Amino acid sequence: MKFSALPRARLASLPTPLQYLPNLTKKLGGPRIWVKRDDLTGLAFGGNKARKLEYLMGDALEKKADYIVTHAGFHSNWCTQTAAAAVKLGMKIRLIKTGPSKGYDGESWDGNHLLHRLMGVEVLVVRPEDTRPTIDASMKELKDKGYNPYYMPVGGSIALGAAGYINAMLELTYQQADQGIQFSHLVHATGSGGTQAGLVAGAKAFNAGIKVIGAMTSPNEKEAQANKVKEITLDSKKQFELDFSLLDDDVVVYNEYAGGGYGFMSEGKAEAVKMLADTEGMMIDPVYTAVAAACLIDLARKKKLTKKDNVVFLHTGGVAALFPYREPLKAYVQGKSLPWTIPKWSPQSQ
Ligand SMILES: *Cc1c(COP(=O)(O)O)cnc(C)c1O
Repeated sequence: MKFSALPRARLASLPTPLQYLPNLTKKLGGPRIWVKRDDLTGLAFGGNKARKLEYLMGDALEKKADYIVTHAGFHSNWCTQTAAAAVKLGMKIRLIKTGPSKGYDGESWDGNHLLHRLMGVEVLVVRPEDTRPTIDASMKELKDKGYNPYYMPVGGSIALGAAGYINAMLELTYQQADQGIQFSHLVHATGSGGTQAGLVAGAKAFNAGIKVIGAMTSPNEKEAQANKVKEITLDSKKQFELDFSLLDDDVVVYNEYAGGGYGFMSEGKAEAVKMLADTEGMMIDPVYTAVAAACLIDLARKKKLTKKDNVVFLHTGGVAALFPYREPLKAYVQGKSLPWTIPKWSPQSQ
């Protein structure tokens, strides 16, 4: 189906602002830096998932679904935004989250977990290896009870979710023309890969002239991540009848800014959170956006991005995850060593 004909639930506040960051630009002394504020999409505390959910929920509504089933990590932004969308649209939702132990409920209710509890949605916490069987059992159970359940994969990273970022690239292409800027690069955090796939498909299809850089949030193999992104990009191209050819170097990923693992704390992430806060008054989170900011800071320091470049930093949201990291952030600001790097809620803490 053509991209413009896709069913769409209007959930996000769009277009999001494009803002120049003069102080960060000055501080790094290299590329001129803008931010695309996708943390302001609305839907709970905003973020990139709102854009994806416009198309995913559009499809779910078209198929007359009444129950959403999805999964992700314990403090997942995806779960927060999907739950908010379901609540808004009057659907039921079951979140299957991975944690350090089955039934884990947090030492306190904090960050995204608190938001899930406030929305009153169903939460099942399992060990990672039990995710798939729990999803399968949930789908069967709900069908048996007479519901019409709709499954969304982690992060909504299939072509329908990527459609949200094809649309974002269309928006950015218009904004750069409107403001008389040509961006050379876009830097963002890549996890399940749908955001990058949509950005790359959009940049190619609309000839935006923007190189998309993905900073990986886990220190996994770069090649596996690039392949995942390519697969979703090519699937989007086919499904939405887009016209471009994907080259190998269209998908750029870095894995060196993730720290020791997904959601782990590191000096580099803490520095990035602090730098965006004390130069621009802008809040980012240690799990995603700080990884992208650390990547941007490092590429500017290493002069891989220079004064010739106009860079847009994509703020993908996730700010609710800032507060559970209060202890290491406090230590960083006070110049002490980090009290922990592996969060208690990580499955890897066991
Ligand atoms: C999910 C998420 C990302 C990564 O998007 P993917 O499409 O999963 O790669 C980036 N930033 C934030 C804040 C997120 O919640």
